[in-house]
Amino acid sequence: MSERTIFDRILDGEIPCHRVYEDDHVLAFLDIAPLSRGHTLLIPKERKAHLHQLSDDSAAALGRVLPRLCRAVLQATGASAYNVLQNNGAAAHQAVMHVHFHVIPKLGDRGLGIGWRPGRLAPEEAEELVAAIRAGLDG
Ligand code: 5GP
Repeated sequence: MSERTIFDRILDGEIPCHRVYEDDHVLAFLDIAPLSRGHTLLIPKERKAHLHQLSDDSAAALGRVLPRLCRAVLQATGASAYNVLQNNGAAAHQAVMHVHFHVIPKLGDRGLGIGWRPGRLAPEEAEELVAAIRAGLDG
């Protein structure tokens, strides 16, 4: 059993949150340290640290709610652009080890800043990668 996170404590009602949506599988609430107005988090009730560990049921529930939540955040904030961010692992800036999706409106200079350093995909490497990833998807 992994350590309890702050989101476990929110799910268990031990600490409060500004809840915007809840159903049997997911909870959405405002981020306590928003990058922009309306920055919202969507989490599964399933207690897993990383996206790849989730059950299909949780994944489906998140997928069903996420676009609806994005629409509501856009409507509430007046934003027309936004980022959905989902970090996995401390090296990828994950601080809370319970799966969560950030919905971050872009409002003026507020929102998510992104560092992006594109490389080049060589054809031989692409073939190798496709074979390896397809093999993983077969399971
Ligand atoms: P991560 O870096 O793990 O993707 O993001 C974790 C997010 O959780 C951060 O944006 C942080 O502000 C938010 N957060 C951390 N603790 C709490 C809390 O107790 N309540 C709420 N509402 N958000 C939190």
